[in-house]
Amino acid sequence: MYENARLCRESQTIEISVRPRRRSRPVCSGCERPATAYDHLSLRRFEFVPLWGCMVVLLYHMRRVDCRTCGVRVETVPWGVGKHQLTKAYMLFLAHWARKLSWQETARSFRSSWEKVCQSVEYVVQWGLEHRQLSPIAAIGVDEIQYARGHKYLTLVYQIEQQCTRLLWIGRERTTSSFEGFFTLIGEELAKKIEFVCSDMWQPYLTVVRERCSQAIHILDRFHIVAKMNAALDQVRAVEARRLVRDGYEPVLKKTRWCVLKRKANLTEHQRFRLRDLLRYNLQTARAYLLKEDFQQLWDYQSPQWAGKFLDDWCAQVMRSRIEPMKKVARTLRAHRALLLNYFRAKKQLSSGVVEGLNNKAKLTMRKSFGFRTFRVTEIALYHALGRLPEPDVAHRFY
Ligand SMILES: [Zn+2]
Repeated sequence: MYENARLCRESQTIEISVRPRRRSRPVCSGCERPATAYDHLSLRRFEFVPLWGCMVVLLYHMRRVDCRTCGVRVETVPWGVGKHQLTKAYMLFLAHWARKLSWQETARSFRSSWEKVCQSVEYVVQWGLEHRQLSPIAAIGVDEIQYARGHKYLTLVYQIEQQCTRLLWIGRERTTSSFEGFFTLIGEELAKKIEFVCSDMWQPYLTVVRERCSQAIHILDRFHIVAKMNAALDQVRAVEARRLVRDGYEPVLKKTRWCVLKRKANLTEHQRFRLRDLLRYNLQTARAYLLKEDFQQLWDYQSPQWAGKFLDDWCAQVMRSRIEPMKKVARTLRAHRALLLNYFRAKKQLSSGVVEGLNNKAKLTMRKSFGFRTFRVTEIALYHALGRLPEPDVAHRFY
């Protein structure tokens, strides 16, 4: 099929001239059927997978066809995709590496550009979204994530079954209409088959689940509740630390942030020592910490009834504590009591922490690359990293 492979020493480029086999019929790009050749266009360059640090370029005169159904059209070639300058194999190659390295590093490693890496990922993601199989979906988790330096939110919907965890959908903002976009995508029939939905306490999400997916058991995610509790504790600690300094007391709360926020098992020797020290004082922070620690027992319950009883007792205790941020948490938990107890109804079927894991992976993906400021780029980067999308086939794999 080709002849005249030539290495240009200066530019470190291997140029390969490709010619069509004699009397071969070009394939119409409109209908993918062979048609008669009409004329050919000027020479086009296709970047192929680099070899031994040299760029590899295919040179080819694209032909035009005179198709009976489509009229005069450019032909389609097996190595190329539409108007892309990169060959299909090279785009798959770059996209593959862009999953392991940052896009910038990928571009540098293969002497390409960030834009070309972006194009490649976009092609692979688009193909994957068009060819993926959505059904069956039994359990989903919805979560929000900040992007564009924390000014904007995205709504992410994951499938969270043991056999299949993947990112299904990304919506702009975190409103009812962004989450509804997901249900529009999957359609009513698939939505009716969802058995579990896992979310945080964000009201728009709660509303949408109730309306579009009412048959599912709706669970509040444990990780979000723990995060809320930690935020309250942190607030108590920060306010109290400032007050101690202002009133001229010994600054016992200085540098204790992680001592009270980290899980007990993850504390260092030094932090454990500080914590023990801190708990000897009669401080709001110490009491709030003990309340938080006490709350952890909730997750060990098996029956929703006993968990409910524990929750009520805990909330009553907090309401007497006069620690306002903790009281706020207790009020929220009371307001969502039924959803919270669903956690124990679904406990056996769903492993908790899946949403948290995916959420961390999504954050890592966004941190790993610069230039994810637009919605579109963030979207394809996330689908690429977490979507488990099928990939187009090529004759040879180079990775
Ligand atoms: Zn055609």
